[in-house]
Amino acid sequence: MQRLIRACYAGAGGYSYAKKAGDVAREHGFDRVARLASNENPRPPSPAAIEAAAAALRETNRYPDERASALVEALRRYHGDYRFVTGAGMDGVIETVIRTVVEPGEKVAVSTPTFSFYGIAAAAQGARVVNVPRSVDFSVDPAAFIEASRGAKLAFLCTPNNPTGNSVPPEDVEAILEGMDGLLFLDNAYVDFADIDYRPLMRRYENLVIGRTMSKIFALAGLRVGYAFVPAWLEPFYQRAATPFALNSVSMAAAAGALGDTDRVRETLEHVREWRRRFIEEVPFRVYPSDANFVMIDVAPRTGDDTTERLAAKGVLVRSCTSFPGLGDHYIRVCIGEDWENIRFLGAMTEI
Ligand SMILES: *Cc1c(COP(=O)(O)O)cnc(C)c1O
Repeated sequence: MQRLIRACYAGAGGYSYAKKAGDVAREHGFDRVARLASNENPRPPSPAAIEAAAAALRETNRYPDERASALVEALRRYHGDYRFVTGAGMDGVIETVIRTVVEPGEKVAVSTPTFSFYGIAAAAQGARVVNVPRSVDFSVDPAAFIEASRGAKLAFLCTPNNPTGNSVPPEDVEAILEGMDGLLFLDNAYVDFADIDYRPLMRRYENLVIGRTMSKIFALAGLRVGYAFVPAWLEPFYQRAATPFALNSVSMAAAAGALGDTDRVRETLEHVREWRRRFIEEVPFRVYPSDANFVMIDVAPRTGDDTTERLAAKGVLVRSCTSFPGLGDHYIRVCIGEDWENIRFLGAMTEI
């Protein structure tokens, strides 16, 4: 019956998941493993998020609010007066935006190396995916990006970028918006850890969508909440294309609760900044500067896969970057964890 499977899934394809901490712990005999592979917040969510989620559970006999009114209101309190759409993680939002604008066979441009899901989701929609390589230092040349994305319905640009950690200056994003014909999806999953604000661009450009997630600084990865700033013209069409009730009521309530706890966000940010500086200073390999809650490390002459295996044997889970399209085989990505996790990582890096 496998002949029924679509070509895009029949061979390889699909998202590469990080190794499971439990498997690594069992394999190498550790009670606990430093989980630095998935860019999560190592601390539990805000108590306000947990309380709101628990209260929402009592009403899960009902379908969720399809307009996500309470969450959108919380987003307006947090960000100001913008238009928002929501989804099951930013991944859900990415999928819906593609479904809204891309016909099969149309071009989608992706600035690489980057997060793999843009290409996966666009290919699943039948798009012709064109990778646009960054410069050798992983910066983005606006003119080259505009040229390569000519004719694309949609282009993806991640900033701060996963896995390289660097940001595209807002004036360069602006130059791209001025020059390109299609819609730009700016992935801001890590912008909370940077000193950059791209939101003002929403006021000036009709061809910009900014994706955000509650999975990283807000510590709700397990509840799958994403959203985007969208231009007003796009919103009703996004709603038509969206899966009905994709975002559940418990997740929405938790997200609204988490958005209200700005003290917790500030604490996380301070913790990340402090450790990011220490990683850059203390790791005996080339560590790339980062605006995110992770750093990319060049482990040459070792490979990323080999280094990831060696670190696992020392009870530290990191991400080998070999599965990122357009990146060499000698990089790992390591996120900032709790103090004990970071200390174990630094020790392990010095040993290998
Ligand atoms: C984590 C991440 C996302 C999305 O996360 P969700 O959990 O689906 O909200 C999107 N883009 C990038 C670059 C990410 O690293």
